Amino acid sequence: MVRKIVSLLTVCLLAAALFCGCWGKDDSSSSSAQATPTPTTPSSGSLGADSMMPDGSGTTVPGNSSSGSSSVMPDESMRPDSGMDNNSASVRPTANWGTMLVNAENPLPGDFSVKTRSIEKYPDRSFDERAAADLEAMLNAAAGDGCPLYLVSTYRSVARQKALYERKVNFYLSKNYEPELAKEQAAKWVAAPGTSEHNLGLAADIVSAKWYNTHDDLTEEFEDTPEFEWLMAHCVEYGFVLRYPSDKTGTTGIGYEPWHYRYVGRDAAAYMKAHNLCLEELHAEQLAAG
Ligand SMILES: [Zn+2]
Repeated sequence: MVRKIVSLLTVCLLAAALFCGCWGKDDSSSSSAQATPTPTTPSSGSLGADSMMPDGSGTTVPGNSSSGSSSVMPDESMRPDSGMDNNSASVRPTANWGTMLVNAENPLPGDFSVKTRSIEKYPDRSFDERAAADLEAMLNAAAGDGCPLYLVSTYRSVARQKALYERKVNFYLSKNYEPELAKEQAAKWVAAPGTSEHNLGLAADIVSAKWYNTHDDLTEEFEDTPEFEWLMAHCVEYGFVLRYPSDKTGTTGIGYEPWHYRYVGRDAAAYMKAHNLCLEELHAEQLAAG
């Protein structure tokens, strides 16, 4: 009975969380929920469709490496908001590539492409090359403060998203679902192509290195860790915001995700934090301002 409730709860949580497309890295293996702990060193094997899956394999866990505390200074000219020293929190940032809104109502065009590069210590994870240095700086700073983080998932191409989505649709078709219902069900587990922020190259699922080594899934309990506290205190300094906060689920349409961070640029991040805005709200303000 208890097991039934637990598995039901897990399914509900996952269904809510998956909608943003955080998962969906790979589902070539069985989709059964395994209770086995994540190996200390990420292996090349998939953990299953409903597990905490990294975007690649063979990546070192920061907590196990001797990551230095030195900050990598990003190239100022590559930021959407260079010259942010003065009072950025009070001036609404103008729309730019950093504040691009991607959600179910605002999908990326099918031919969307972005220049990405791999992240230091994560050869299999890539990020928009204009924001990659800030992401690296944030990871390094956290490690330097005794809060080693782990990058679970970053950029995923629209083409890859499409393949994952179609695989899921086919799964439901094979179970004799009607085509429309199969798509509907699939979208609960894998975001439709172009509607996941991970397709944009500016979203990162981040947990603590310790969490990664001891949990199979991304769950709300991550908020109880010092690493989450660190992220909340410092991510804005690196141009990131918590994209799906608990008090904005009605606006974002996505459940609370303490692991999903979105790069918007430092000015926009500071402004959003100061005014308690999610990206949909910033976007609305920008539209209203013309
Ligand atoms: Zn995510």
